[in-house]
Amino acid sequence: MKDSRLMTLGEKQEIFTSNLAKLIAYAESIGFRCRIREVERTAYQQEEYLRLAKSKTPNSRHLKALAADIYFTKGSLYPVELKGALAPLGSYWESLHPDNRWGGNFKDFQDCPHFEMN
Ligand SMILES: [Zn+2]
Repeated sequence: MKDSRLMTLGEKQEIFTSNLAKLIAYAESIGFRCRIREVERTAYQQEEYLRLAKSKTPNSRHLKALAADIYFTKGSLYPVELKGALAPLGSYWESLHPDNRWGGNFKDFQDCPHFEMN
């Protein structure tokens, strides 16, 4: 695996996209249905989210299209946002690449629909 510090942004976005496809295939294989929401975010949108306390960082990975918010449904649960229900998906995501982080594991601001690559 190429050292991610030597990759271009485009190369990282390609790996991120490929891993997102694997995450969705895995989620479907264990009974979830998936709705991709926000991926890329403008600086203006990020400033608005900070102002509205919907985000805690000015350096969101969404600004580089290296994060995706995905709503999962399963059976009658909609959307599945409980950390316990999504933990297997978070673990799978973090196993796909050493730079992958799941928002359900964030210390200061749990964000279960959020999957990112650093
Ligand atoms: Zn997000």
